[in-house]
Order: sequence, then structure tokens, then C-alpha cells
Amino acid sequence: MSESVVDLRSDTVTKPTAAMRRAMAEAEVGDDVYREDPTVNRLEARAAEIFEREAGLFVPSGTMGNQTAIKVHTQPGREVICEERAHIVNHEMAMMAAFSGVLARTIRAEDGILSWGLIAPQVRGRSDHRARTGLVEIENSSNLAGGSVYPPAVADEIVDRTHAAGLPVHLDGARIFNAGVALGRRPAELTRKFDSVMFCLSKGLGAPVGSMLVGSKEFIEEARLVRKMLGGGMRQAGVLAAAGRVALEDSPKRLHFDHDNARFLAEGLAEIPGIQIDPAKVVTNILFLDVSETSLTSFEISKRLAAKGVLANGVTPTTMRMVTHYDVDRAGCERALMVLREVLSVPARAVVV
Ligand SMILES: *Cc1c(COP(=O)(O)O)cnc(C)c1O
Repeated sequence: MSESVVDLRSDTVTKPTAAMRRAMAEAEVGDDVYREDPTVNRLEARAAEIFEREAGLFVPSGTMGNQTAIKVHTQPGREVICEERAHIVNHEMAMMAAFSGVLARTIRAEDGILSWGLIAPQVRGRSDHRARTGLVEIENSSNLAGGSVYPPAVADEIVDRTHAAGLPVHLDGARIFNAGVALGRRPAELTRKFDSVMFCLSKGLGAPVGSMLVGSKEFIEEARLVRKMLGGGMRQAGVLAAAGRVALEDSPKRLHFDHDNARFLAEGLAEIPGIQIDPAKVVTNILFLDVSETSLTSFEISKRLAAKGVLANGVTPTTMRMVTHYDVDRAGCERALMVLREVLSVPARAVVV
């Protein structure tokens, strides 16, 4: 892909920085299934330290991290309570059913932000008819609900009340560092009550590959076995962990640029006729825009943008997502707005989906 492409499809598209590539080239490695890779061990210890937890585990992807946690926390035949737009239910290949034998009990919440008030009526104990709840899961920041963040007190109450009901809570914190920046809180403060936390090194933090699980020593020991079941036992994984270590140390301090750029984009988009977006709701690096009044589908807009070097995905026929990250600067955002204006001023042509 040429340098001049503005890629707003996802923060997964970032390329490793020069510092990451250097660290990868120089990484000290060993066999991580034997726990002998010093670079992986350091990454896991550092993640545990940052999150103020006993232990951490390096996993190849966020999906593997989430599904590993679900497997450890549940038994077949139970339900996992989560928001309707949760990544675990929409973007993880029905793996909670295929691998853990559990069903999702989804709840629709405004901006994807659940509350104990919404969760409580769905928590089931022993019954002659209904599946028992096995786990509650929340996502912070949300992905498909527009990068929204949980007010810390709301998340804390969910965990406390769920624990009081005798159940564990998993946090899909793929972008917990973005949530932390938006709230001005350290990740440990936002996550300490959860039984397990998954976060991604490969999203806004910019590492080429990898996510982390953090939790108690006991949880991580179980998760290590499940990771192996899934084929996630890696050998000289230090070459990947080395980039992850750089991502973990260096990247959180620049995420605010991505948030500023997302807000800048949102404000520019709000001024384009036919586009609907509330810039006040853009608090991290993800935004959704409604294109239903443009006479083009999101997919057609996406195609026309791509022809002019701007990449953004249609999510539904009437909504598109844009995500800012390390490899998109302010000039790129300005260009995206300019190109979108050009694309939309093309004489309207009815498009049938
Ligand atoms: C990206 C993401 C994941 C993990 O995705 P992988 O592509 O498997 O690394 C999990 N949860 C959320 C909310 C995400 O955005």
C-alpha cells in the first residue's frame, strides 16, 4: 500500500515503528512453551506490574485472549451476559459456543455501556428451565458502539454486584489504554476489580502481533493450558514480545493524538451535508457516521473513497466506521474529509443494496 493512502479502517493496520523493529531484531529468545523465552517473560511480568496483577500471559490475538478467559471462567451450558454489540459475540466466530459450549445473553445498552440495572434482570441461578449465568463480560472502550468508555463507578458497580451474585467478570479491554487516556485514569485503576483482563498490543499501541491476559496467578496458569489447547503455545515468541514491550512502554503516551484526530474528523464530518454524527460522543479513536441521507450506501462510499486513496469500512449499508491511529496524522484526516466531500458531491445515483 502506498505511503499516501489514508487508512481509517482500523487501528490494527499500524506498522511496527523503527524502535519496535530494532527490538525485534535484537530480542533475546528461548522456547516459551518451556517458559524459557526471557523477552516473553519480561513482557508478561511488565504487563502484570502495570495492571497491578499477579501474572500476565502473552497470546497471539485478542480473540484468543477473550476466548481463553471465557473457557476458564465457564462450564458448558452456561450463559455469558454481554452487550449486544460485544466483540466476543459479533467478531469471534461463535467461538464461545464452539469451544466453551456457552450461549451469549445479550443486552442492548445506549452507547454500548451496560449498567448493573440492565444486567441484574438477566442473571439466572439454578432453574428447571433456563440456563444459568456463568460469566458477565464488558468491553472498554467499546468497539462497535463507537469507542465509548465506561464511567469507572459504573464498571466497578457491575463487578461488585456480579461478584456478590457469585459470578466472575471478564473485561475485554482491547483498547483499555484508550479508555484510560479518555478518562485520565491508569489502566490498573479501571481494571483492578475484574477477574480477568484482555488488552491488545496490536491495536492503538501499534505492535505487529499480540495481546495480553492479566489476572491472578491461578487464572493465568489455567489460561496457559487453554492457550496451548488452542494452538497458541508459541516457541521463540520473544521476537514478537520485543515489539510488544516497546508498544507497552512507549505508545500509551501518544494515544491522545489519535483521540484529538478522531474528534477533528468528527467535527469535520458533522459539517458535510448528508452525514450525521455527534462529535461530542467521540471520546477515543473510533467513530461511526450515519450516511443514510447521502443517497449512496456506505459500501459505495467506501469504494469511491478507496479509489482516491482513503480507506474506511461500511459496517451496515447506512453506517461507516473510521478509526484513527499512529499511521494517520492530522494532514491525513484533512485529506480524508476533503476526499469524502468530493465523493459525496458526485451526482447522486440511487444504489440498491
Ligand atoms: C480487536 C478486538 C479484539 C481482538 O481482536 P483480534 O483481532 O483477535 O486481536 C477483541 N475485542 C475488541 C473489542 C476488539 O476491538
